[in-house]
Amino acid sequence: MKTKVAFYWCASCGGCEEAVLDLAEDLLKVLDAVDIVFWPVALDFKEKDVEAMDDGSIVVSFINGAVRTSDQLKMARLLRRKSKLVVAFGVCAQSGGIPGLANLTNARGVLDEAYQGTITPQQEFRENGYKLTLPKLFDSVFALDRAIPVDYYVPGCPPSPKIVWDAFQALLADPLPPPGAVLAPDHAMCDECPRRDTHPEELKLERFQRLQERVWETDTCLLAQGAPCLGPATRAGCGARCINGNMPCTGCFGSTSRVRDFGAKALCSIASIIGGGAAVEEIDRIFAGIPDPVGTFYRYSLPASFLERKRSE
Ligand code: SF4
Ligand code: SF4
Repeated sequence: MKTKVAFYWCASCGGCEEAVLDLAEDLLKVLDAVDIVFWPVALDFKEKDVEAMDDGSIVVSFINGAVRTSDQLKMARLLRRKSKLVVAFGVCAQSGGIPGLANLTNARGVLDEAYQGTITPQQEFRENGYKLTLPKLFDSVFALDRAIPVDYYVPGCPPSPKIVWDAFQALLADPLPPPGAVLAPDHAMCDECPRRDTHPEELKLERFQRLQERVWETDTCLLAQGAPCLGPATRAGCGARCINGNMPCTGCFGSTSRVRDFGAKALCSIASIIGGGAAVEEIDRIFAGIPDPVGTFYRYSLPASFLERKRSE
């Protein structure tokens, strides 16, 4: 009997689904070992097919994306009931991801922004005796483990092929990893960065620059050059994908096990290298080089943070 696995897609861009295909020829080895019993993006299974399965009969469900609609919550709960293990696959499921930035507003605000007040989508529509029902859009976006119990986490936006391959190997092995484990190395991105030797021991910056403001050296630590690289706060495992493309790390692998709030850790790591004097005006001037602090420090993790969402004006 092959191991039964399922894949499901909640609020995300779909990149995590493609990350499975990025396994390339290794995908054939995975398919040798598993029987995919549900994967709506690739195979014609329906919700009723999952409902008909015995509880606990799926060995692992890989759920990517955050939870922001009633439909996603219902499917997450159904897969939880049918599965021995649930894996939050990718950073949106792990901590809310980019869709989680919608927690800066509410459902009404999201619709107003998207449709600019021109249309208000109706949840229910009737025509010629037929009824069309749309899922309810929640006021808050949730990380998967705020909606259902989660057994393991695979980080990344999207997870890199090596991380996906290692995760499959770990979950098909005996014994399993410790419950609640993040299936990636537990040290900081700077440790695996090809530019780490150029990261000064003592770093003080008096100015941050946006990417379009200058030509960046390709062999020197980006943080030392004045780009807000979040490598010091981010978990390793992606192979320094962005750095190799001469882009700063934006933190999609989340934090290591020793950190409870990625955004707070990232903010602290940047704040600790602010140079200049202690004058508030000077600190304000330096931080003005980071014009979108929430989008910088909580880009992938607002729903899983201590704050979870914007609380009031
Ligand atoms: S701060 Fe960024 S560029 Fe510098 S060593 Fe760390 S990951 Fe690499
Ligand atoms: S370098 Fe940072 S942002 Fe880029 S893929 Fe790796 S963890 Fe994600």
